[in-house]
Amino acid sequence: MAHVVILGAGTGGMPAVYEMREALSAEHQVTLISADDYFQFVPSNPWVGVGWRTREKITFPIRPHVERKGIRFIAQTAEKIEAQQQEIILADGSKVSYDYLIITTGPWMAFENVPGSHPHEGPIQSICTVDHAEKAYQSYQALLADPGPIVMGVMAGASCMGPAYEYAMIVAADLKKRGLRDKIPSFSFVTSEPYIGHLGIQGVGDSTGILSRGLEAEGVDVYINCRVDEVKDGKMFITQVNEEGATLKTFTLPVKFGMMIPAFKGVPAVAQVEGLCNESGFVLVDEHQRSLKYPHIFAAGIAIAIPPVEKTPIPTGAPKTGYMIESMVTAAVHNIQADIEGRKGEQTRGTWNAVCFADMGTYGAAFVALPQLRPRRVDMFASGRWVHLAKVAFEKYFLHKMKSGVSEPFYEKYMFQMMGITRLEKEKKADRKVS
Ligand SMILES: Cc1cc2nc3c(=O)[nH]c(=O)nc-3n(C[C@H](O)[C@H](O)[C@H](O)COP(=O)(O)OP(=O)(O)OC[C@H]3O[C@@H](n4cnc5c(N)ncnc54)[C@H](O)[C@@H]3O)c2cc1C
Repeated sequence: MAHVVILGAGTGGMPAVYEMREALSAEHQVTLISADDYFQFVPSNPWVGVGWRTREKITFPIRPHVERKGIRFIAQTAEKIEAQQQEIILADGSKVSYDYLIITTGPWMAFENVPGSHPHEGPIQSICTVDHAEKAYQSYQALLADPGPIVMGVMAGASCMGPAYEYAMIVAADLKKRGLRDKIPSFSFVTSEPYIGHLGIQGVGDSTGILSRGLEAEGVDVYINCRVDEVKDGKMFITQVNEEGATLKTFTLPVKFGMMIPAFKGVPAVAQVEGLCNESGFVLVDEHQRSLKYPHIFAAGIAIAIPPVEKTPIPTGAPKTGYMIESMVTAAVHNIQADIEGRKGEQTRGTWNAVCFADMGTYGAAFVALPQLRPRRVDMFASGRWVHLAKVAFEKYFLHKMKSGVSEPFYEKYMFQMMGITRLEKEKKADRKVS
């Protein structure tokens, strides 16, 4: 009998645990360990940050759903991974041993990189978790009662730019709805990207044009190639650099309410494992999602190391988006199954295709990058009201999938295959054109 443990029950961990259970016969055990006892649909957190969604609408308790499928669930934080002994030490001191481990622990938010930027320290909020988004909503309500300057954007080293654009545009739309947009003395977007719409992937389709026009239409002032040095006494201290990375100017912006996506790192329990990770605490994996050092450890999602796509004047990272994460998970599950069933030579690769819907308040922007990292076969960024509606539908669909325990229903697989989008390399048909 083999015991497979999935660590972290987020966008990657939940599909992983269902797929693993489905892949293995009943004699094998599958355990899910996660710090929280609930699942949250992270892409909806920007809506929570303006009160368009509540926690109840985008979360659900994990236990009944996974236990129904014969999966053991432990709601605890992993404090340490003893990779040589193949054991995990939990917060209560108990140990869980594994034959195979899939790490899907997501990001550690490195607020410590910028003094004063933690949501509990000052005006800069986060929407990275539902807890943060609820706190952001409280601060936003205080802003509505007593309006002041807004700053949003992306910190140096960040790799998840999309939600910063989303939240900026959603806040702008919400202010307009409330008739308060003209009460905001300044609204700025400060980003480490070398140009608007770079998104950590050298842009996709016309992301630069669409996002620049969107911010301009909302009267948002844009600052690129910026590093936030500190947030203090209602001011953001910023350094802007030129293309060579040399300082162009330093300046301050007043801020009463803000949201900046921080740089991500790996979580401590994972980062501390000797030889497992890079210097940022992300797991070093091969093309089959397997750890370079520990053959019984696999990793997927934000937890893995992906090099930046290019050197930018202020460091930026490559994002790990939802469909890409699901493709990593499916590959990891296939490879563990092959190992357990004695087919060790059979190894599968995820396609790392990126399909993403970003909400912009009243409309939305969708991108398809096949694969996410250049060179690409498909490179498309489109916007319209339909994307806003598609994102709302996708939220309901993904939550339903994670409750019912089917990671990739046949109709989803079929629909994506029709568009030439698959999770695994071996499923890929001849290249098709999407225009
Ligand atoms: C605000 C926001 C919006 C986004 N929107 C989109 C979008 O619209 N489309 C898209 O494609 N991508 C989006 N992304 C990017 C990405 O898809 C998400 O961040 C996604 O949730 C990452 O999945 P993950 O499984 O790697 O990590 P997560 O979903 O963050 O899951 C990590 C899990 O690990 C658990 N964990 C962490 N440490 C431990 C520990 N020590 N012990 C036990 N459990 C632990 C956490 O509690 C959590 O359950 C968004 C990201 C953010 C931050």
